[in-house]
Amino acid sequence: MKIGLLKEINAGEKRVALLPVNVAKLVKKGLNVTVEASAGSASGFSDQDYQDAGASIAERDQVMADAQVIICVSCKDQQAEQVNSQLRKDQWLIATMDPLARAQQVAEYANTGVTALALELVPRITRAQSMDVLSSMATIAGYKAVLIAAEKAPRLFPMMMTAAGTLKPARVFIMGVGVAGLQACATAKRLGAVVEAYDIRPAAREQIISVGARPVELNLEDSATETKGGYATEQTDDFIARQQAAMADVLAQQDVVITTAAIPGRPAPKLITAAMVEKMKPGTVIVDLAAETGGNCELTELDQVIESNGVTIIGPSNMASMAATHASQMFATNIENLLNLMIEDSSLTLDFEDEIIKETTVSHQGEIISPRLRDVLG
Ligand code: NAD
Repeated sequence: MKIGLLKEINAGEKRVALLPVNVAKLVKKGLNVTVEASAGSASGFSDQDYQDAGASIAERDQVMADAQVIICVSCKDQQAEQVNSQLRKDQWLIATMDPLARAQQVAEYANTGVTALALELVPRITRAQSMDVLSSMATIAGYKAVLIAAEKAPRLFPMMMTAAGTLKPARVFIMGVGVAGLQACATAKRLGAVVEAYDIRPAAREQIISVGARPVELNLEDSATETKGGYATEQTDDFIARQQAAMADVLAQQDVVITTAAIPGRPAPKLITAAMVEKMKPGTVIVDLAAETGGNCELTELDQVIESNGVTIIGPSNMASMAATHASQMFATNIENLLNLMIEDSSLTLDFEDEIIKETTVSHQGEIISPRLRDVLG
């Protein structure tokens, strides 16, 4: 079976979905791999590296024509347009494709007969942790968000006792403590800040403490804030309003705020209003990791740096691409682990008895397979 690794073409996308080291292991298992020319160059891997690992190099049209399994990091926007126009019904597509927010577009793969696997649908269960690209990329985003804030803030993070006096440590507040938020807590702590954090899920409390941060209690949460799968549930407007009111005073004391709150497939909850920003100290920096889904702060603009009342609000997109080499390494390891579940006699097979395969497969032989996607489609 031939795997085709595509170059990413979306703006700002520097990752690659397989590294030479992963290619070598797949080739050893009897798969053929063709890599689109310069697919790895933005993340530090040359065509020669891939050839040395046993791949052949080709232009995109040839990769699309020859390979049975097309793999890329992100099949959305321009990449989706190009790939979808060339995919045939006997081909597979393995990529992130934002299946819950783009449910109708992704469901089209069933109509065309393509076998599509959406990496975001890998279940958040222990056995699938090594295949979970959402966690891998969130780890990088959480880390980078803190560095961006540290760079922009007009103060240092650690306490310093100098001959010119004592500098107080920065106060950093993390809102939304899933994978990205937890990594942000740990990174800010390592830099010497005083770190507090808040999540709507009561279960996050213990995790906040485990990385040395202090949980902020608003006493609004209950068991209805968490789904069986461990995700946050979407809250009512009334809950969000009460949350905002309780949060305003906490925010007014911070030097840096990192927001990561998300509900899968839904717009980001608005945690910080313009009025709350007005009450914050001048010099405070907000990094809004939810910018791509509308932002946790009312003032956030995607890929912009906004100044309001002395507060800086940064809304970056695709944070993982900012550390493209490590992001690609993690992404590729996740894909390789997923492929390992499917490799049988130098070919890939889908076993729908396996929860991971069933949950991750968007479409196969004209049918929508993923129960989560079926739910969203109604
Ligand atoms: P996510 O990106 O979907 O959301 C980020 C965080 O925002 C979540 O912790 C969520 O509770 C929080 N949030 C949502 N609305 C909020 C609000 N109004 N106020 C404050 N916070 C709000 O989350 P994620 O990083 O993908 O993690 C989701 C869950 O999956 C977590 O429970 C995590 O521990 C779990 N998880 C499990 C595994 C595994 O077992 N394999 C792997 C990764 C994540």
